[in-house]
Amino acid sequence: MKREALVKMVLAAAFLGLVLWGGLPLFRHRHFDVPVIKGPGVTSVFRLSELSPRLKGTAGDTYVYALQGKEPGGKALLMGDTHANEPEGMLSALIVIENAVVEKGTLFVIPFFNNSASRNTRPGDGYPLYFDVATDWGAERFRFGNRDASPLDQWPDPDVYIHYPDRQLLSFIDVRNTNRTWPGRPAGPLMERVTFGAMELMRREKIDVAVDIHGAETMFPVTNCIVAPEKSVKIATLAALTVKATEGFESHVEPSPAGFRGLSHREIGDYSETMPFLLEAPIPFLDQPTGPKTTKFLLDGKDPFLLSLSKKKKLFVPYDETGWPLEKRVGQNLSVALEILRQFTKKSAAKPIILRGVPRYADVVKNGVGRYLMNPAKAPAGAVVMN
Ligand SMILES: [Zn+2]
Repeated sequence: MKREALVKMVLAAAFLGLVLWGGLPLFRHRHFDVPVIKGPGVTSVFRLSELSPRLKGTAGDTYVYALQGKEPGGKALLMGDTHANEPEGMLSALIVIENAVVEKGTLFVIPFFNNSASRNTRPGDGYPLYFDVATDWGAERFRFGNRDASPLDQWPDPDVYIHYPDRQLLSFIDVRNTNRTWPGRPAGPLMERVTFGAMELMRREKIDVAVDIHGAETMFPVTNCIVAPEKSVKIATLAALTVKATEGFESHVEPSPAGFRGLSHREIGDYSETMPFLLEAPIPFLDQPTGPKTTKFLLDGKDPFLLSLSKKKKLFVPYDETGWPLEKRVGQNLSVALEILRQFTKKSAAKPIILRGVPRYADVVKNGVGRYLMNPAKAPAGAVVMN
């Protein structure tokens, strides 16, 4: 009897050890904050729960950075980490927050739109928990998240997600996907409260332009593009033609399908006066037939399997030994977003949105992403937001 109790105790201790060994890194990742420096243009920082009160105290609540210009004008919203496993959007948003100065108009930036997903991971796919970006002052560490919010924050999932208000039947997992829960409800599932908060921001502030920044697989047809509904397509086309002619990279226009509900590029336009745009830069890391999902691969986008598939013409983007590095993806997002704002300003002279200090494609490709990330140790007191 004594021997049996001892065996049970040893087994229980071993089990507890395994739980701690597996769980502690996930716990640390979930509570790891990124220091965001309020750059020269940031005039206020507030939480999305100010617009969607039932987000208060939840992991769905996230920071909004406002950059109000010296002169009035139009208004724009930039969002990163709608899908937190597509970090080029979040990094583009951080570069804007830490560097931009707005001359005319107002800019709102939400770098971790799905905050819960940015603290989630996908262990079955061997996702890394973090990645480091080299800067002039050392490496800056970021959380690498998942496409969907954590079940710790929103659970249980339904058998089928019934989209609100269209009642279209979507996959159960999409109830935790902030690019399916637009336009959202104030008291819906947590991710609907997130998208509802952003809708309220756009409606109350009368935001003119919203840019939702993503990354997409090289084997997925909707990649390397600007997705735009009818009301945004003219500006998207002008932006695509201009970056191709003046900066030499491709980002074609894809129409937003009217029958596919819940997506930002569809619902924002249908439920507010705002013109939405969704940017997709190719991210080879998200493709399925690749080697191990290492942080090196996440950053440089180089993979031998994709290279051989490219030679068989199976990819939707040009792909060679140079891969598709992070600086190309972030640079592309920044140039396209800046070009959308410039084309909007040209078209709406009474509502200009003019900013400076944000690098474009060639700058980021030449200098790297880290050149534009500020050192929190050198930031003035009160300028760092732990995000
Ligand atoms: Zn995405």
